[in-house]
Amino acid sequence: MCNMILLFSIVGSFFISDPPDFSIESSNFCIYDSGEIEHNMNQCKPNPAYSYSTDPHDLSDFSEVVIPIVFWGINKTDGSNQDPLTKAKVQESLELLNSAFAEMKICFELNDLNYIDDSEIYWSDYYKFNKHVKKNYPVSDEVLNIYVPYRFTNNNNNLRGGKWSSNQMSVNMLNYKTGILPHEVGHILGLLHTHTGEKAMNCEHITRDENDLSYNAKCTGDRVTDTNAMPNLYRYFHLINENCEYEGDLRNCEDLPYQLTEEDIRNFMGYTQHSCRSTFTVGQGIRAREFIENSQKSGKLGFVFQKK
Ligand SMILES: [Zn+2]
Repeated sequence: MCNMILLFSIVGSFFISDPPDFSIESSNFCIYDSGEIEHNMNQCKPNPAYSYSTDPHDLSDFSEVVIPIVFWGINKTDGSNQDPLTKAKVQESLELLNSAFAEMKICFELNDLNYIDDSEIYWSDYYKFNKHVKKNYPVSDEVLNIYVPYRFTNNNNNLRGGKWSSNQMSVNMLNYKTGILPHEVGHILGLLHTHTGEKAMNCEHITRDENDLSYNAKCTGDRVTDTNAMPNLYRYFHLINENCEYEGDLRNCEDLPYQLTEEDIRNFMGYTQHSCRSTFTVGQGIRAREFIENSQKSGKLGFVFQKK
């Protein structure tokens, strides 16, 4: 179990302003460049750096790791905030993350809660926010930084969050304890959207029979084999019932109907009904842990530590 030691030292605030940056609009609600267009892969050649295992025993064989987090509340320049990031909210965020990643044996500990007093980024464009923070508020490589501004203006103020560097991500204040928080941490730890490449000519195929010539789950989609091929369901919430079950007949690039389970609809990495998102699969867990191992071999992800 994770040790919930909280190291609170709320440090001083900052006040720096700079000129407005160029802003880019996006149609995504979680902004993450996951390579939505697949390469032409007539042959499926799985990446040898990954096992593609979905065996719970393999997941439980990993040793426990710890990720220290610095949370950043974003206030207006005068320090005010309509909905401030409090210690209690940060505690709720940590509890959600520790619950979501428990089976992966990844523990999150609070390293610090800091505040930035800067109206430029209190309620601003997502890309402007990222550039402004990178330019003005440098961070350590040895922690994961989670920024919680009031809102982002993108998508009519509906952008919920995004990962924007290997150890920096944001969620807006409406989402400090919703499924978007583990979703963005999932991106930090190498997980892709479950609908990745859905529009590509060689989209993820439906079959989960490895002996089927059509099987390509290791090479397309999210590269995790225990998440089914699935579409972006943001325009299709009416096809998801109150029990988070899919009741649609959407078809993939082969014109075959998707076979979506409740677990697919509940997956943190899917674009499904927000209230349904509550689980990762074993395959995603193993993928994330192998991503950490592979990254650390090449000197990256210095904010993930072996538990002492
Ligand atoms: Zn995402």
